[in-house]
Amino acid sequence: MTLHGLLASTALLMLAACSRSGDDAVIVKQPEIVVETPAPQVAQTVETPPPPEAVVQDEPAPPAPTPAPAPAPTPAAEPVTLKYLMGDVKPGSDPLFKAVPGKLATRAGMYGHKDAVAALEKMADAAATDGVDLKVVSAFRSFNDQKTIWNNKWTGATLVEGGKLPNTVPDPKKRALKILEFSSMPGTSRHHWGTDFDLNDLTNTYFASGKGKKIHDWLTAHGADYGFCQVYSPKGADRPNGYNEERWHWSYIPVASAYLAQYPTVMGYDHLKGFEGAAAAKDIDVITNYVQGINPACKR
Ligand SMILES: [Zn+2]
Repeated sequence: MTLHGLLASTALLMLAACSRSGDDAVIVKQPEIVVETPAPQVAQTVETPPPPEAVVQDEPAPPAPTPAPAPAPTPAAEPVTLKYLMGDVKPGSDPLFKAVPGKLATRAGMYGHKDAVAALEKMADAAATDGVDLKVVSAFRSFNDQKTIWNNKWTGATLVEGGKLPNTVPDPKKRALKILEFSSMPGTSRHHWGTDFDLNDLTNTYFASGKGKKIHDWLTAHGADYGFCQVYSPKGADRPNGYNEERWHWSYIPVASAYLAQYPTVMGYDHLKGFEGAAAAKDIDVITNYVQGINPACKR
């Protein structure tokens, strides 16, 4: 009995020890769990908000700039602008074009970009009050108009400086450069855009004295008030390349500057084709040297 009682009391002691140690363990571990659990929760709670905030800040930022610039170039840039850049339009039926009023035109069938014609009318009215009579000698010219002029010179059908160019200038690049002294390459003329007008006369000497000088002086002083600029200013340090001076050629810059900006990418050399000597265009870099070779004061 004694042994049994000893065994029994030992077992009870062990149970008590186990349960106590078990309780102790639970009691000790519980606070650990309580301490550990809120800690990561707090840490998670603190860490979680910044990422969403950062995401929220990032998300509105990219969408805002992305759609804003995208719609602007897209409608003006692609196929529509290409045909306007290269003069592949029928101005009599194109809604972007308007006839030059009869009082300003030197012949029937002259057209320009509607905004340019409207500005020209205002400028001409203002000039008239100052005793200056503006007349349009040339306005919109189509790609095909320019192609006829160019090809006839290239082939010799039209004499240049009294000779036929295939004989006098057989080299293609030199021949193109010779024609460029007087005429634009098809697809590169600002007259395709309807933004540019030749006024009153086609010689610089006309504008050097008398009535012509009065006209040119008035345009130089007041043209910018109506958006017009003489893009082919005298050649010099500030305009080393491009066409020679043309005192008669005035460009409506608010529209023309947008056309010029898009020209290298929308038009580019891919579309300068379909006329005699077209291969010379890239050789000469006609876009850089002629299309973009304008009076820096006219650039906006
Ligand atoms: Zn012109």
